[in-house]
Amino acid sequence: MIAEVIINSTAKKLNRTFDYSIPNELKDYIVIGSTVLVPFGNFKELEEAYVVGFKEKSLYKTKEIVKIKDNLTNRQIELAKWMAKRYFCNISECVKLMISPGMRNAKGNTIQDKKINAIYLNKDYEQIKFDIETGIIKSEKHKKLLEFLNENGGCTVSEIEMFTGFSRAIVNTLIKNGYLMVKEIKIERNPLINKNIERDKKLKLTDEQQIAFSKVEQAIESNRYEQFLLYGVTGAGKTEVYLQLIEKSLEKNKNSIVLVPEISLTPQMIDRFIARFGKEVIAVLHSKLSTGEKYDEWNNIKEGKAKIIIGARSAIFAPVQNIGIIIIDEEHDPSYKSEMSPRYNAKEIAEILAKENKCPLILGSATPDITTYYKAKQNKITMLRLQKRANNSKLPTVKIIDLKQELINGNKSMISIDLYKSMLDNLTNKRQTILFLNRRGFSTFIMCRECGYTIKCKNCNISMTYHSFDNKLKCHYCGYEENVVKICPKCKSSKIRYFGTGTQKLEEEVHKIFPTAKTIRMDVDTVTKKNSHEDILNCFKNDGIDILIGTQMVVKGHHFPNVTLVGVIAADSSLNIDDYRANERTFQILTQVAGRAGRGNLDGRVIIQTYNPEHFILDYAKKQDYDLFYNTEIALRKQLKYPPFCDIIIINFDSIKEEELKKTADFVYKYIIKELDGNEFKIFKPLPAPIDKIQNRIRWRMIIKGNMNENANSVFNKCLQDVYKLNLRFTRVAVNINPNNMM
Ligand code: ADP
Ligand code: ZN
Ligand code: ZN
Repeated sequence: MIAEVIINSTAKKLNRTFDYSIPNELKDYIVIGSTVLVPFGNFKELEEAYVVGFKEKSLYKTKEIVKIKDNLTNRQIELAKWMAKRYFCNISECVKLMISPGMRNAKGNTIQDKKINAIYLNKDYEQIKFDIETGIIKSEKHKKLLEFLNENGGCTVSEIEMFTGFSRAIVNTLIKNGYLMVKEIKIERNPLINKNIERDKKLKLTDEQQIAFSKVEQAIESNRYEQFLLYGVTGAGKTEVYLQLIEKSLEKNKNSIVLVPEISLTPQMIDRFIARFGKEVIAVLHSKLSTGEKYDEWNNIKEGKAKIIIGARSAIFAPVQNIGIIIIDEEHDPSYKSEMSPRYNAKEIAEILAKENKCPLILGSATPDITTYYKAKQNKITMLRLQKRANNSKLPTVKIIDLKQELINGNKSMISIDLYKSMLDNLTNKRQTILFLNRRGFSTFIMCRECGYTIKCKNCNISMTYHSFDNKLKCHYCGYEENVVKICPKCKSSKIRYFGTGTQKLEEEVHKIFPTAKTIRMDVDTVTKKNSHEDILNCFKNDGIDILIGTQMVVKGHHFPNVTLVGVIAADSSLNIDDYRANERTFQILTQVAGRAGRGNLDGRVIIQTYNPEHFILDYAKKQDYDLFYNTEIALRKQLKYPPFCDIIIINFDSIKEEELKKTADFVYKYIIKELDGNEFKIFKPLPAPIDKIQNRIRWRMIIKGNMNENANSVFNKCLQDVYKLNLRFTRVAVNINPNNMM
């Protein structure tokens, strides 16, 4: 027997099958989906590969498979093949998402210590890739080890030795060079082991909840695929509906998958599931788990011990059999679409799994994705509505403040008079306030008032941001730093000024106005590995903090009964981005952040400050009326031909050699123009991307509008194959369907 395998590599040339013979002793254990080790080319070490098929004979002289590491199911391999085609990537990249996290040695040994020193990356992997590309990291071993730790962060040195064969000395060198760090972690092979949560009982559903529940229950009872949109205002009790549906599914002896955005995967949220079902049947998958924990959770799922899987995007690939329901909470969240290869959309994968398992798929949101809502209106998805808050608390009142008028009135502060008065009120009454700012850093950009020169990163062509803490200019894309300038590099004038507002500056201003107020800040600079966003939220909840100041991170579904005031400092920043979803994102964010106010017995108040008070989005956000927003937005989308009326397909080119990039882009453009029907597709010429350079790589993009049907999919796949035949040395090409970020 001959096995057809795919080598675990992102090299496009290796995206095909290779023949290997199966030794007798492995014959009974190898299946389609086995992860195996094989000798390959001239490499000294064995390569990992995945078995995707069998045949009687090979035309070539074949080498033998050496070892089996893991088995996937046939179904998973089929899914990986489908994904590779749909998302334009290698099959091996998709298989990787489905195999057990971390690696195990042949005997399946794991480490038993209670406390261990684990090795993590000490830098962003993007930065490391940059250092590899620019030759700062030269050693192959260093590259391989860093890549290994990117996938398996949280390994001990002995695990690293065991799995990679690299010595302690290499690890030490990389620690010394600042690429790796050591952190002491507790080994709790079950991440929930220390949780002692009191069990609760199910609540009596409200009438609205009951109607929604019954419709989905029918689908569970009759083993039927059906997709639902559970559309309910913030605090409507969607989670309670999920819990009772999962219970139903458990009664039928079936498993459940619950996807939530990574950032909402907080202990408070998981506790609600534990309280209802007990920790024994729950597996949690997220990026903060150690490799050992991830591995064990994966095994618990495989062995059927875990019956409810709660996790972020990639948990959709957990090895769950016999699924009774799939739930995607906050379905509008952009994080369900991966922007790294494989550029998959977890909602599409969930749909495939739900169909296969003949079970319902529920998408839940207070501000659904426009596309989802459109499908619900077209009756392709069954709409379930919850219009009232479950505990009868009222939705907050929203007031819009015109910042232009504030200026005219002589108020130059970031905080309007209205917001000031409400904050003062809250401080006096010992209530909590959240201030939301859609930015990070101290100032957004630096500009010369004489000549208009702005300081940009020399690698990325993006405005540098001023950080007052270390008095440096930083690039948020590549991490490049520069000292602060006082004189304009272009015209030598001293009129260089810092523009814009960041969380840090806002915090300083709040301290000036309210010197006794206790504040805490949450943004990418204060949230680190050691100081998680959860620690900050706990601190806000328990440590008598008056004001939480933060970026996007404060928006997601937290429940703070004592928060009665939410202030949005400048609602406009997300309206001005160069993206067809600017309105949608702004509306979603304003509604979500407003939903943080008045969740307890106390009434909530939201103050939104803006320079565009007349913009329809602000009016609808004030009314908190999603339907009004939808009706206007869908008309715009139809008129301008944007999703859901077509797919936006972006072909990204990036390169360190402009000549090669231009030639490639031209090749692709001509190919697509020739092969795709110009009536069905609107094909735009390749052009420099809005951000035309990142980390010294020049970036171009080509936009195509149309429906990504089977035929178009083949055209793109064939085009990519032809591109690989060009043997490009410096240029990368990627196709992304409906990407989150158009920049
Ligand atoms: P959502 O997920 O829609 O934001 P939650 O499920 O968090 O809403 O519910 C908001 C609050 O309402 C929670 O405190 C929850 O315990 C409460 N709640 C939900 N359903 C009910 C119900 N049927 N009866 C009483 N309280 C409920
Ligand atoms: Zn940069
Ligand atoms: Zn100047």
